[in-house]
Formats: sequence, C-alpha cells, structure tokens
Amino acid sequence: MVKKGKKVEYELNPNGIKSLTDNEIKTILRGADDLIMSGGRALLSKILGGSKDKKLIELELNYSPVYGAFKGVSQKEILSKIDWMILHDYLVIEYNGRLPLLCYTDKGWDIERETYADELFEKLIDAAENRTYEFVETLKDRNRGLIFLLLDKIADSGNKELITILNAWQMLEYKKVKVKIQEVIDRLEKVKERTEKIHNQDPISFSANKKWLSIPVEIRRKLEKNVWCSSCRDVVKIERYTVKECSTGIVLEGKCQKCGHDVARVID
Ligand SMILES: [Zn+2]
Repeated sequence: MVKKGKKVEYELNPNGIKSLTDNEIKTILRGADDLIMSGGRALLSKILGGSKDKKLIELELNYSPVYGAFKGVSQKEILSKIDWMILHDYLVIEYNGRLPLLCYTDKGWDIERETYADELFEKLIDAAENRTYEFVETLKDRNRGLIFLLLDKIADSGNKELITILNAWQMLEYKKVKVKIQEVIDRLEKVKERTEKIHNQDPISFSANKKWLSIPVEIRRKLEKNVWCSSCRDVVKIERYTVKECSTGIVLEGKCQKCGHDVARVID
C-alpha cells in the first residue's frame, strides 16, 4: 500500500468559520469513521455532500448514514468545515506513506464512539424485535471501547427483551467481551419482571438460531441467495427472515428481496 515518493501536501483553510453546531460536529465525525487511516479530507467532503463520485460508490461509502448530510452545501464549504474540525482537534491528519489520511483525536473519538454506540444500540433493538439475531456477527472485532459502551447502554436500558440476542452474541465472542456480556445479562435478569413475555415467548427459536449460526457464514450467504419465490417464479434472495425449528431441521421464513412476497427455505 505504501507508495514511495513525495508526500502529498495539504493546506487547511477553515475560511473564517467561527464555530460548528454539535450536530455538524457529530455528522462530520460519523462520516470520517469509514475513512480512518484509509481516506482523506476530499473523500470525506464528498461523502457529506452526497457525491456520485465513482471511487466513493466503489467503496460503498454511499451507505454511510451521513451520506449527503450536507447536500446543497458546496464542496469548498464542506471542506472548510472539515478543516475547522482538524484545527479544533477533533480530527488529525496522519501520513500513510505519501498520503495524508484522517484519524480521530481522543476528543473526536469520544464523541464518535457515543454516536456509533447509539446507532448500534438502535440496530440491536431492531434485530432483537425482528429476531435477526445474526446481526451480532457484525459486532465482532469492533473497537473494544465502542463495544463496552454499547454494552453499558444495553445494561442501562433495563430491556430484558435483549437477553436472547445477547446470548447469541456471547457465543461468538472472545473471553473479555463474553464476560462483559454475561454481566449485562445478569443485570438485565434482575430487572423487574414486567417485560417477561417476549423473552420467554419462543425458546425454540433460540435453538434454531443456534443451529443456523453454526453453519459457516459463506454457506449461509449462499443459502440466503438460493430461495424459491413462487411469485417471481425464480430463485431469489431472502431478506428480513426469522429462523425457526421444523421437523426436518430449521426453516428460514422471510420476504423475497425482489418482490416482497413471503418465502421460506428449509435447511436440513
Ligand atoms: Zn419474489
């Protein structure tokens, strides 16, 4: 990756910006998350501006939650805001070889970690409600500080309905995170019994999920893409599915990605 040659120079110019709102600061930091030590100021300004730049689309940066957050603002002005962030110690430029790349400062990361943990917390609640427990795979190998903050938020929520997904998550994790997840489960178990019903509603579904998750991920991805839709009369990809026990093994029940029709796939 490291290319030899003269370092690419850059010059920061906040163009007289005096301050940014908290929301702007959070937005810029969120956008930088996908670029840490891999992209620079110009690419970040394109994400925020919602650019259709080929490289940006190739890197799937248009999936950033803040893609286009500054739509309508000129690239020059967005760049000025980013430069203000660097000059005010939220972001820092570090070189990898000759390229100046974005990095968080401690101050910037403290804010971004909070934003990101909130986002993951919302996603985890969604996954628990829809029983798409395999969401937990996306939490593995994340920054430890971020994950611990997320776990604190889960514990503080007192939401017992999250225990099942925490169990699924715990199975995948390394020791330290495993121990921390158990602490959170223990804390939630002690929460008064008001939300007991969903937690105990379907214990079978948990063992079905366990079976599903024991299948190697590449094979699971293939199975998801190989589901018959009677409406499309074609092999399609299943989405928004739940995993259930059936007489011959497990069954995925969800929707056709193309037409939204109910589809199911038995796995034996
Ligand atoms: Zn279909």
